[in-house]
Amino acid sequence: MAQSTETTDWVSRFADEVIEESERRAPGKPVVVASGLSPSGPIHLGNLREVMTPHLVADEIRRRGHEVRHLISWDDYDRYRKVPNGVPGTDASWAEHIGRPLTAVPAPQGSPYPNWAEHFKAAMVEALAEMGVEFDGISQTEQYTSGVYREQILHAMKHRGDIDAILDQYRTKKAPAKKQQSQKPLDEAELEAAEGSGAAAEDDGTGSAGYFPYKPYCGDCGKDLTTVTAYDDDTTELTYTCAECAFSETVRLSEFNRGKLVWKVDWPMRWAYEGVVFEPSGVDHSSPGSSFQVGGRIVGGIFGGKQPIGPMYAFVGISGMAKMSSSKGGVPTPGDALKIMEPQLLRWLYARRRPNQSFKIAFDQEIQRLYDEWDKLAGKVADGTALPGDVAAHARAVGTAAGELPRTPRPMAYRTLASVADITAGAEDQTLRILSELDPADPITSLDEVRPRLDRAEAWINTQVPADQRTVVRAEADTDLLKSLDDQGRASLRLLLDGLDTHWSLDGLTHLVYGVPKVQAGFPADAGPKELPAEIKVAQRTFFALLYHLLVGRDTGPRLPTLLLAVGQERVRKLLGE
Ligand SMILES: [Zn+2]
Repeated sequence: MAQSTETTDWVSRFADEVIEESERRAPGKPVVVASGLSPSGPIHLGNLREVMTPHLVADEIRRRGHEVRHLISWDDYDRYRKVPNGVPGTDASWAEHIGRPLTAVPAPQGSPYPNWAEHFKAAMVEALAEMGVEFDGISQTEQYTSGVYREQILHAMKHRGDIDAILDQYRTKKAPAKKQQSQKPLDEAELEAAEGSGAAAEDDGTGSAGYFPYKPYCGDCGKDLTTVTAYDDDTTELTYTCAECAFSETVRLSEFNRGKLVWKVDWPMRWAYEGVVFEPSGVDHSSPGSSFQVGGRIVGGIFGGKQPIGPMYAFVGISGMAKMSSSKGGVPTPGDALKIMEPQLLRWLYARRRPNQSFKIAFDQEIQRLYDEWDKLAGKVADGTALPGDVAAHARAVGTAAGELPRTPRPMAYRTLASVADITAGAEDQTLRILSELDPADPITSLDEVRPRLDRAEAWINTQVPADQRTVVRAEADTDLLKSLDDQGRASLRLLLDGLDTHWSLDGLTHLVYGVPKVQAGFPADAGPKELPAEIKVAQRTFFALLYHLLVGRDTGPRLPTLLLAVGQERVRKLLGE
């Protein structure tokens, strides 16, 4: 078992609080933390915080040797609210299922899964497994349709007047406008992510015949457009009518399993039923009258339970997701992120920020800088110079209480791997040749040494970098440009060409390309910045631009040492006019 990280980062502080609270509420019992996810469509990457916040806390509790359950409630018995845009294998005809439980809606065409909810759940389950997230999944369809919550439902119906009175205190308050932390308007996908689990707009059970916290799915059309018209507490006989198909029937709630408590009652019922001690929720739950706040009143007042410790977590944004690249309907999913980054990096993004801090997950060039930062941290952790909070975040990222996640044996810089993938377009023999030349003293001998990071960098280049930003090495030398060079230009190329043989490694070529303008200006090639005039920077930029033009026909490109290695010495000599 992994060691506890003896620090005071946010995860550790929540773990202290949760363990203490759990001991107070249920001495000697496993600690219970929870997340809720609605498989109403592709599960947005932004919703991963709903899982990662309790996961990290649960993992710390586990590292300390306590027994802990992380429940993920799949809200798959919620109504199908709308047909999400652009999901492959679906069309407008799915609209006929609106109002049915998500598990009663057919999966997109071609899916191996039995229904809509299972189809979208499966992608999330796969991503969570890759990230090392251990959880107990609970299908609300299974729970409700097998009568697990029978007692709680009958209890809620019996106390419907009390529930109505609690809800009424919030109904009279003017519903506050939905406020977001960011100033810019959110797009539809972001709004869906912010909305999170639980149908925010679902009605609370008020009908013309009075207040009932339970809603049956219709016995004929299967939809929830039903209204309870009568209920007898003694016999538990319930009568409802359906607005969709005019069906009506009387059932006995003591043996009826095709319906559910309304969301604002369902959530606190489950807190009490499962004994949840920690369950965070999105910022949209922080307003008075939100389901988290109202749930706090209902769980104590009706179900005799307690509200979990529930931090509000801030929005997680996405930067630069290429519009067309998402696998499912333009919504970035955790699976999409894991195609371009290793699970360690994604875990680190969540571990290093407190839940109330918002951050962005980079699909654009920023991912290269993020990886540089991550590698630098790993170096500091290895040599013992990292700060305690950073060490903790690193430890939470690279593994769990169950052990380390599989890692890339030789974590070469992501930006280098991306450049090589860019230039070679994935040709394996060429990739191996280039990568083995990066460090001739200790060459890699198999691409497996740099996997899976290489695969992620390749996927990033192929799915996120637009065609006009890709690097295309010139097929023939640019003779016009070569002929137009002055003496200075020609001499700089000569110096470079003469040094290629002896400098053919990543470090060597770095030294060489920066050194050429220094030597031309009469300084030693290894002169430091303090010994050099400011003009040398201008000369270096001019020289680099010339090399980019001769090699790839543009002003910029991948870092020159990487580019030179990737192009190969023979071809470099040809393109530089030798
Ligand atoms: Zn009906």
